[in-house]
Amino acid sequence: MAARTVQRQTGHMDDGATTVRAVANFVNVSTLAGLVIARAGKAELSRGPRGLWYAEHYRLPFPVAGAFTVGNVIITPTSVAEIGGAVLAHEERHTWQYMVFGAFFLPLYVTAMGWSWIRTGDRAARNAFERAAGLADGGYADVPVRPLRSLCERRLSG
Ligand SMILES: [Zn+2]
Repeated sequence: MAARTVQRQTGHMDDGATTVRAVANFVNVSTLAGLVIARAGKAELSRGPRGLWYAEHYRLPFPVAGAFTVGNVIITPTSVAEIGGAVLAHEERHTWQYMVFGAFFLPLYVTAMGWSWIRTGDRAARNAFERAAGLADGGYADVPVRPLRSLCERRLSG
């Protein structure tokens, strides 16, 4: 199968783009932060494709996630084989978000997570970063939003 077809089907960009991503996430220190977090969690590090790092068997209890990504480092308490291709693709999409937002990614992500929580009671459903990375691939449900009016009324009535 032609490389272009594979890239289109998997969402993977070409080598030039992934090199730019690797350099950007090195310069904005997000990949370094990911490696430090992986080390702190006693994860087993290995190089993945396209400039990615895999950190498997992460042992810290936070964050509570089947997998999470910091810079170009995809971190999981289990293994890459266990989380599977859809979750890996979802996590790799977050690496592009780090490239775009750099040091602002984490505060923006936490804000988006809070917004999602307020609107749906779910941390991912209305989180723009999780939606862009693919809710279903990440194992998240698309929870309907709660009307803001009822939220306000509930707050006011105690
Ligand atoms: Zn995600």
